[in-house]
Amino acid sequence: MNHRNEWLHINSGKVLIAGPCSAESAEQMLETAKGIAEHFPNNILRAGSWKPRTRPGNFEGSGVDGLRWLKDAGSQTGMRTITEVATPQHVEAALSIGIDMFWVGARTTGNPFLVQELAESLRGIDIPVFVKNPLHPDLHLWIGGLERFQRMGQKKLVAIHRGFHAYENSGYRNVPRWQLVHALKSLHPELPVICDISHIAGNTTHLFSIAQQAYDLDLEGLMIETHVNPKSALSDPDQQVSPVELHAIVSNLTQRVRSFEETAVMNQVGELRNKIDHVDERLLELLVQRISLIEELGNLKRENNVSVLQLERWKSIIDNCMDMARTHGLNQEFVRNIFLQIHDEAIRLQSNMLRDFSEKDRKI
Ligand code: PEP
Ligand code: MN
Repeated sequence: MNHRNEWLHINSGKVLIAGPCSAESAEQMLETAKGIAEHFPNNILRAGSWKPRTRPGNFEGSGVDGLRWLKDAGSQTGMRTITEVATPQHVEAALSIGIDMFWVGARTTGNPFLVQELAESLRGIDIPVFVKNPLHPDLHLWIGGLERFQRMGQKKLVAIHRGFHAYENSGYRNVPRWQLVHALKSLHPELPVICDISHIAGNTTHLFSIAQQAYDLDLEGLMIETHVNPKSALSDPDQQVSPVELHAIVSNLTQRVRSFEETAVMNQVGELRNKIDHVDERLLELLVQRISLIEELGNLKRENNVSVLQLERWKSIIDNCMDMARTHGLNQEFVRNIFLQIHDEAIRLQSNMLRDFSEKDRKI
């Protein structure tokens, strides 16, 4: 376990935050908490108490009462508690009731004014803060949210990947963007990142596979909305699971180890990695060759005053590549993206060559 993250008490190697979307009543909180604690006594119990919906007039949370129900349920079952805070008033109320941790919701992370106010309201208070990604895929806004708390002295910070809003119908309520998580991990290797699989899925069908993917990527834990009676939930009824379903999901997940351990396997891995390094070298040599051909062609375009972008030629390149990708059983989207990048670079290089020429012209 990472020494710096000991406060998370990751006994089984992973953090689990489970509990309802919203605190609805003392009974709902306690029954849900009991069901969770039976299998996951180290769980962190979650519940939202301020739930502004897309349009006003629906259930909008139970405010301070909800916080009391959450705290009581946590105390009776021995679980630490976490709630969403979006304003300094929320922080004040939650601190006075003794909530143990806070999370910052996706809509709040998107608003640096609010995050700054929240961070300032926590100055000098040592409490874990979990920051969800903003709705749109802006890694720096997410990191910026975490930094605002860090600058106010918070040391116990965790990022939550809860998926990103998508206009197109993706099959998810919020599309996961694992590349962004990977980028976040590369920039901040010491920062724990957990995955809120419920707000990604939006239903219960794909919860398991999203959770397994989070484990496969070595994320530090999961947030899973859990309700004693999901169908009757006052918010997010479609995506919440019962405590029994929560147990079925978590107990079926496979945890991966960080690195290879057996010498024989390590040797095999070493050999394969050498071969991969060699292929990478060849790929780069081929790119050098391709760029020099692009430049020769650029010269001809310049000398003959021909435009850089040749749509027919580009179409035939991409059609050929797609044919070859199909023949070799490669992911076509992957191949298309690589060639889009190569083509963009070709256009950039050749445009610069033409620009050089016209600049010289202007000087004459
Ligand atoms: C929630 O966790 O209940 C919630 C509202 O999350 P998000 O901010 O990710 O939408
Ligand atoms: Mn919810």
